[in-house]
Amino acid sequence: MLTQNLGYPRIGSQRELKKACENYWAGKTGHKDVLTTGKNIRHENWQVQKDAGIDLIPSNDFSFYDHVLDHSLMFGAIPKRYNEVMLKEGNKELDLYFAMARGYQKDGLDIVAMEMTKWFDTNYHYIVPEFYKNQQFKLFSTKVVDEFYDAKQAGIITKPVLIGPVSYLLLGKEKEAGFNRIDLIKNLLPVYMDILNKIKHLGAEWVQFDEPFLSLDLTEKEQQAFKDTYKHLRTAFPFLKFILTTYFERLGDNTKLAVSLPVDVLHIDLVRAPHQLDEVLTLLPEKMNLSLGVIDGRNIWKNDYIRALSHIKKAIAVIGTDRVIIAPSCSLLHTPCDLDMETAIDPEIKNWMAFAKQKLYEVNELNEIIKGNNDLLQNNLKAISSRSLSKLIHKQEIKKRVAAITDATRNSEFTVRQKIQQENFKLPLFPTTTIGSFPQTDDIRQLRSRLKKGAITTAQYDVEIEKATIDAIRWQEEIGLDVLVHGEFERNDMVEYFGELLDGFLFTKNGWVQSYGSRCVKPPVIYGDVSRPNDMTVRWSSFAQANTEKLMKGMLTGPVTILQWSFVRDDQPRYETTYQIALAIRDEVVALEKAGIKVIQIDEPAIREGLPLRKADWAAYLDWAVKAFRISASGVNDETQIHTHMCYSEFNDIIEHIAAMDADVITIETSRSQMELLAAFADFKYPNEIGPGVYDIHSPRIPSVVEMVSLLEKAAVLLPVENLWVNPDCGLKTRKWPETQEALKNMVKAAQTAREKITNEIAV
Ligand code: GLN
Ligand code: ZN
Repeated sequence: MLTQNLGYPRIGSQRELKKACENYWAGKTGHKDVLTTGKNIRHENWQVQKDAGIDLIPSNDFSFYDHVLDHSLMFGAIPKRYNEVMLKEGNKELDLYFAMARGYQKDGLDIVAMEMTKWFDTNYHYIVPEFYKNQQFKLFSTKVVDEFYDAKQAGIITKPVLIGPVSYLLLGKEKEAGFNRIDLIKNLLPVYMDILNKIKHLGAEWVQFDEPFLSLDLTEKEQQAFKDTYKHLRTAFPFLKFILTTYFERLGDNTKLAVSLPVDVLHIDLVRAPHQLDEVLTLLPEKMNLSLGVIDGRNIWKNDYIRALSHIKKAIAVIGTDRVIIAPSCSLLHTPCDLDMETAIDPEIKNWMAFAKQKLYEVNELNEIIKGNNDLLQNNLKAISSRSLSKLIHKQEIKKRVAAITDATRNSEFTVRQKIQQENFKLPLFPTTTIGSFPQTDDIRQLRSRLKKGAITTAQYDVEIEKATIDAIRWQEEIGLDVLVHGEFERNDMVEYFGELLDGFLFTKNGWVQSYGSRCVKPPVIYGDVSRPNDMTVRWSSFAQANTEKLMKGMLTGPVTILQWSFVRDDQPRYETTYQIALAIRDEVVALEKAGIKVIQIDEPAIREGLPLRKADWAAYLDWAVKAFRISASGVNDETQIHTHMCYSEFNDIIEHIAAMDADVITIETSRSQMELLAAFADFKYPNEIGPGVYDIHSPRIPSVVEMVSLLEKAAVLLPVENLWVNPDCGLKTRKWPETQEALKNMVKAAQTAREKITNEIAV
């Protein structure tokens, strides 16, 4: 039985790539330094995989920024606006590449970057290919060939990885009207042929085509493209061994299509979609081998060998050992590098975990167990059963509380609550507020790092945070905002802050995962039943409220967002964990109310990104996600106003579920297509109050009063005026103070102007 790996983290176990790129961008090092760092990481990765006994080791899975962008450069899919970059003295291919990723503001040029978006349902972001009518492709960069050659020189014959032609096109966007990007396939295929020819001549035996779109809903045209493409490639290369990889979801109704393609190996994800194995085995043609993705490439838990072996044995029974390959479910890009580097995790818990390197060994051990090594199985059994029984994880009272949840509804319906709240708060029309955070200056960050290092005491830290909070309150009062926020100066990150205060979470030292380019995140690990030993935000919210006569908004992160941005338990359904978090947040909401906080915001920016990849699965997810929010929000009296905030995505297609969350007020990111979103809310007759973001916080640009007034006027045409709020489209953490203050002053003026206009209209 063969083993394979689909891809390995490329940031480096010490984040060497991040440092090398950032130094290069800052002009501190030269071109050669970055290239050398890249080369070292690749060689290290190949060696790690070889040492772990992996048979088919990938190449071209490395990337200086993003693997989709690598393909765009390889295929010469370089938008015209970058032409001048290469003409500037000293610039190399790498500079063009980084210009596409990050924009180019130098040498008198000002060229915007290509768009970036999420890689399926992961937190990895890729650079979106730009397509034009009749676009021609040509082999521009030979990265895939060079890396194969490089590994070969080092004595390792790798398996080059390419994004399959159909998925590559589907990942991109048409940048002009009048064509379908799938039709570019005939222009694109010659470049693939060129590449395959080159690697074949260098001695490649295998090639991996990643076609994740086979696990998504496909149109007929797209299905046909798959058939034509692989027939074409197969005819030209009858002897290269093609591995077709799918992941993140089941093949589902594309199963017949997938097994009909002329490839040598089909890879399926049995972690996300274990149930597909039976159907695939039934339909698998005799000439096709099957790669079983049995080790979770998206999480950090040790593999449950008994479960993996049940799949492997089933496959062997149907198609025989020689036709089975063992593999992780997807590229290991989405897991941190090496658990051995974590020295501070409780050993009991650490024994339940596995990062990328450890997962390679699991692949190998499964193979050894099949060959008869029983000790390996026994060791694994011990770890898995210790986890299933551990008191660190399982808390009966929490499980009971979740099981007892029946209702999650506010006491009265929205119209009743609205009336009470209006009478109590006496807010003007177009009330103004912000989303929560204010600029996290270097001073604040340094303060936190000094606290962590023990250079200052908690008491000293608190004094400084109090000062920053009071300053923020004073100037919010001065410029005349209606509902204030405390500024979130005490928080590092909106999930980490809560994770550190909740039971059932742990934090790694080095568990970095690439988010985009050189940016990495270190997600918290939810390992056990979640509970809230103490109040989490009451101290800061009541401190802030005590310092102003105005309404002070309490600020919490919602259960779905906390779940979505963490590594989650795989020993219970996601909704179970989310309900536990929801109960903890609910208790915090009630505690805030008791402490005199009358307006409480529960942020759920990640609710939409949790949507399953296939539409058929949306309803079930939305059902529990909405319920989780309602659990957290429904413990308070009618007098207490619950806000929520959402951003990062289009909400038009889930609007009825947003309405079902029944927040009294939603503030929402709309700046990019304000009208479209508002129209959707208007068409749906969204019943509750809403603050469509009136300016884009992602840019330092200061919005004018006039433009914001005009947005408010448009909003007032579409939605009931008494339901409208005025706010920026997201938190202001990443902005600088001067632009924040100018922008908010203008925003308050815009609200005043809009009020006057409306009052005049009513008077007339
Ligand atoms: N309250 C958070 C903030 O203002 C919300 C962040 C977000 O929407 N991502 O920073
Ligand atoms: Zn936001």
